[in-house]
Amino acid sequence: MSTIPKIILGSGKDQSPKRFHPWIFSGAISKMTGELADGDVVEVYSNKNEYLCTGHYQKGSIAVRIFSFNQVEPDTTFWKDKIQKAYDYRKAIGLIGREDTNVYRLVYGEGDGMPGLIIDFYNGTAVIQCHSIGMHREVEKIVQALKEIYGSGLKAVYDKSKESLSDRYGDKLANTYLFGEDKEKQVLEYGNKIKVDWEEGQKTGFFIDQRENRKLVGQYAKDKKVLDCFCYAGGFSVYALKAGATEVHSVDSSKTAIKLTDDNIQLNFGEGAKQKSHVADAFDFLKDNQGQYDLMVVDPPAFAKHRDARHQAVMGYKRLNALAIQGVKPGGLIFTFSCSQVVDKYLFHGAITAAAIETGRTVRILQYLSQPADHPISIYHPEGEYLKGMILFVE
Ligand code: SAH
Repeated sequence: MSTIPKIILGSGKDQSPKRFHPWIFSGAISKMTGELADGDVVEVYSNKNEYLCTGHYQKGSIAVRIFSFNQVEPDTTFWKDKIQKAYDYRKAIGLIGREDTNVYRLVYGEGDGMPGLIIDFYNGTAVIQCHSIGMHREVEKIVQALKEIYGSGLKAVYDKSKESLSDRYGDKLANTYLFGEDKEKQVLEYGNKIKVDWEEGQKTGFFIDQRENRKLVGQYAKDKKVLDCFCYAGGFSVYALKAGATEVHSVDSSKTAIKLTDDNIQLNFGEGAKQKSHVADAFDFLKDNQGQYDLMVVDPPAFAKHRDARHQAVMGYKRLNALAIQGVKPGGLIFTFSCSQVVDKYLFHGAITAAAIETGRTVRILQYLSQPADHPISIYHPEGEYLKGMILFVE
């Protein structure tokens, strides 16, 4: 008999876990055995006392984040097997063991059957962000698993969960190395050198999710004057320059981001690169620099983090993209993105259409863009899809 505390669902509420959806909402729960504390491992049963799944409990709308649909003891071996699977998947899709790339997402939460866990791999350093306190309590087991899987290939593990956990738990934590230390902080992505500051930078340090889209920008940037809006560490700018853009302008409102961009341009091209950085609001910059660029990248932060903010966000995407579509040179290209999970690809498409109509220009869609395969979407958890984009051709 398992000693793990139990949650019993209400009648008919077992359909969602039976379809392998990884969350139990609080409204589905009918009973709990004993007092449950945030972070506890729980087993979930139907009202007919059938076992359904095991996960981490946390008070809130999502009450259980499920990590297994089979009865298990979540010990070190269990977590090692899970992370090994995530590793094997990245190996199978050709992301591990490459000469030209040593940065990828190793664990993408629900997409890898580990809700609440993000692990990004930066040339030997694993950066962990936990989004639930239950997952954070597994962190020692996870570090052990990483050591076993990577062996001497693991230089350091950095826990950056202070920002990703809710304030109640994050406030009590400090971001820290759980193993080793890496001062070099430099990765290679398709042969491009990128400095990644996981200690001071945004998220885990770098937006790995744009790798394939950066590569695509490289394919189109030759002989073009390029604007990289919301450039952060300048990833798109580096690819565009490498590909032979005549000039690249990189814009971000954050000084720290622009410093990273400058460092990355210097790292790849030394002095004298045909690139300029601007600390500026991207909306203002677009307004003030109409008719100058052949290729624009528009990659803003998430405009909506919650459903309530969705309408405002759509209006924001429309306004931003109208400025870009209006401003690009005839025959120009726009790589436009949204990473707001609550604005789905249809809504985003609608916002871009409305923006195009407002400008009156002829706009064609060259290609739809999305998140890369190391940010996998479980077919049972469509909510895992968040990054979408389009390449537009504007006459
Ligand atoms: N394109 C980047 C990721 C962009 S993240 C990459 O490939 O790595 C979003 C960036 O937008 C952040 O760096 C943030 O500082 C910046 N930002 C937020 N609001 C902004 C604004 N109004 N104008 C310009 N930059 C802004």
